[in-house]
Amino acid sequence: MYILLMGPPGAGKGTQAANLVNKFVIPHISTGDMFRAAVKEGTELGKQAKACMDAGKLVPDEITIGIVRQRLAKPDCAKGFILDGFPRTVEQADALDKILAELQIKLTRVVDISVPSALLIERAVGRRICKQCGATYHVRFNPTQKDGICDVCGGETYQRADDSEATMKNRLSVYEAQTKPLIDYYQNAGVYTAVDGSQAIDKVFNDVINCLQG
Ligand SMILES: [Zn+2]
Repeated sequence: MYILLMGPPGAGKGTQAANLVNKFVIPHISTGDMFRAAVKEGTELGKQAKACMDAGKLVPDEITIGIVRQRLAKPDCAKGFILDGFPRTVEQADALDKILAELQIKLTRVVDISVPSALLIERAVGRRICKQCGATYHVRFNPTQKDGICDVCGGETYQRADDSEATMKNRLSVYEAQTKPLIDYYQNAGVYTAVDGSQAIDKVFNDVINCLQG
């Protein structure tokens, strides 16, 4: 199973990735983890990436692509992987195609956990977190019994600054602008499937499995 996972912030991609790891026993490769591992291993590309990050610069494509190539060539990827957070641009998608051709791998499917923006905003804006124990609630979907008080520990609940409507709207519009060309790219390649991520978590996972095995 060679899976490319896409989805807007807050769509529940992490949960679905964890379910896929359990089911298929293949690695979940996120861009952040991949960078951290390359830096930790002290590879040449890792050193170059670290120098960019330390200088507060964007890591150039050729370094990112090199790190992806090295990661996907590792033995634990032979039977499959879940790639998450890469590619972000059509240029990177082209580069990924070349890497996969070198490795004689064909993408099984590009799975897009799709959730309407209005729902993602509602999920984020209504989220409340306990200051003491970190339990999460939602004012509408999973409210505390007493307003503003954690059911578990009696602590006060609060709203994260990132969960504001303005922040979410901005993140989602950046995501959409970035992702639209990629959706077209993989639709043209005949490997793209959007899964309705507004359903319950287990139903979403069912749909993911169906599109991988269909
Ligand atoms: Zn609590």
